[in-house]
Amino acid sequence: MTVELQRTAPAEHGAVFTDHLVTATWTGDRGWSPARTGPLADFAMHPGMIGLHYGQVVFEGLKAHRQADGSMAVFRPRENARRFQRSAARLAMPEVPEEMFLAAVEEIVAADGHLIDDDPDISLYLRPLLFASEANLMLRPSREYTFMMMAFVAGGFFGHVLEPVRVWVSRDQPRAFPGGTGDVKCAANYAGAFHAQRRAQEAGCQQVVWLDSVEHRYVEELGGMNLFLVRRIGDDVELVTSPLTGTLLPGVTRDTLCTLAARLGYRVREERFTVEQWRDEAAAGVVTEAFACGTAAVVTPVGQVHDGGAEWTIGTGGPGEVTMRVREALLDVHKGRVPDPDGWMHHIR
Ligand SMILES: *Cc1c(COP(=O)(O)O)cnc(C)c1O
Repeated sequence: MTVELQRTAPAEHGAVFTDHLVTATWTGDRGWSPARTGPLADFAMHPGMIGLHYGQVVFEGLKAHRQADGSMAVFRPRENARRFQRSAARLAMPEVPEEMFLAAVEEIVAADGHLIDDDPDISLYLRPLLFASEANLMLRPSREYTFMMMAFVAGGFFGHVLEPVRVWVSRDQPRAFPGGTGDVKCAANYAGAFHAQRRAQEAGCQQVVWLDSVEHRYVEELGGMNLFLVRRIGDDVELVTSPLTGTLLPGVTRDTLCTLAARLGYRVREERFTVEQWRDEAAAGVVTEAFACGTAAVVTPVGQVHDGGAEWTIGTGGPGEVTMRVREALLDVHKGRVPDPDGWMHHIR
């Protein structure tokens, strides 16, 4: 479980857990118990636990980064705390108070932050989890819940080199539907997506392009990431991303990039676009780049799209100039290399 191990043999993303775990429990009578930090270990559970059977489980993902001055800071944790609350509320679960969430973030970073150094490729990925822990098979919300905060050492999500990904359009299996749970981070969203992910891999692709579930043509997001297209119109650069339709996840990275891109002088538009438009504009040289973004993957270029019989390359198929600029701008914020006018970095004492 050392960083050395990660260096010599890059482990799969999410496989190198750190040493500690923060835990708290909730019951209707007493509310939240005080959070306890202990060694990461297996725990006992009743086979009839509601979370296991009916999927009352939500999670989050955020990162702590080593700063230029050697300290540690977490990127926009309050955004994750609030989204975690929205996810919990959607699944009829109790909310973890924002200050309790933040205290758990600080605990785990203080306990395990020493596992990362100042290599910009390495960060501490924090995974808050909330699940229904009452043993009961009645079809109703649980009356007991467990909150956990664990962490793993994260290298580059797609390996150390910034390889553009090939993506596969899911025409017949949408990930979310209007009124559903697509805009929150509940476990079932991901289980339901694995089948399409496997089909993508069988077609030689790394990620799934999710379309809207009504017309099956508007591009919403990509795997567990949000998606941006880069359009060039003369000297003008425009970044386009799907509006928050309710069926895609409002990413903290997406929100951040909208701000950073505007500061870099790019126009940013929230606009629905179809797969056909993506293909035609890529062929016409208007869409010159595309990239995915999220906490785990940061900013990852999309090189090729595979849509049934059709296949197209975006720009040169390599990482584009605009993609690399917004990626660097984001990494600069993460690493504390630039001023932080928005107070995005939460510093750990
Ligand atoms: C978590 C997630 C994202 C990215 O959100 P960030 O807050 O930027 O990490 C995008 N799409 C889906 C489906 C996700 O689960």
